[in-house]
Amino acid sequence: MVCMKEPIEREELIARYLSRRLDENAVEEFEAHYLGCDECFDELKISERIVAGLSASNLAWSQESGVSVLRFRKAAQLTHSATELEELRRELLEQTDSRVIIDLSRVTKIDSAGLGQLMSCYTHLVRNQGSLKLLNAGPDVKKVLDMTGISSLLPDFSDEQEAIRSFSRQ
Ligand SMILES: [Zn+2]
Repeated sequence: MVCMKEPIEREELIARYLSRRLDENAVEEFEAHYLGCDECFDELKISERIVAGLSASNLAWSQESGVSVLRFRKAAQLTHSATELEELRRELLEQTDSRVIIDLSRVTKIDSAGLGQLMSCYTHLVRNQGSLKLLNAGPDVKKVLDMTGISSLLPDFSDEQEAIRSFSRQ
């Protein structure tokens, strides 16, 4: 069986399925589908393993004035081999609020994979009529953001209230 779902559609569907945010009919439809679909079945198994690992997630959400703030509980790296990168992607895809701030104060290192992930989070949120702002990047991370020109798309704020207010100016 050849799967007709686009990769992004499949990811979102699986994320919703695993977090039990599909209605009864959609659950039945998906369960009937994935058993016969290699692509969806494989992706589901991978996602299940990640979700199981997420109980020890390093990410925490808070809400303020209709803006979601994502923080790292402990020091993190947004680099090629870091588990945080995959977590970040999953969390953002599941997020229904499309106005998001990522607090980078505990991120000690970022590389091209991390930048790529931030950009794809940004694209995902913009597609959902939202946006992404960054908060409290440390000197090393800030240098990379500036050097690559990412900061012109994803402004880095040092004041959380200012970052929150910046959404209403759009
Ligand atoms: Zn499929």
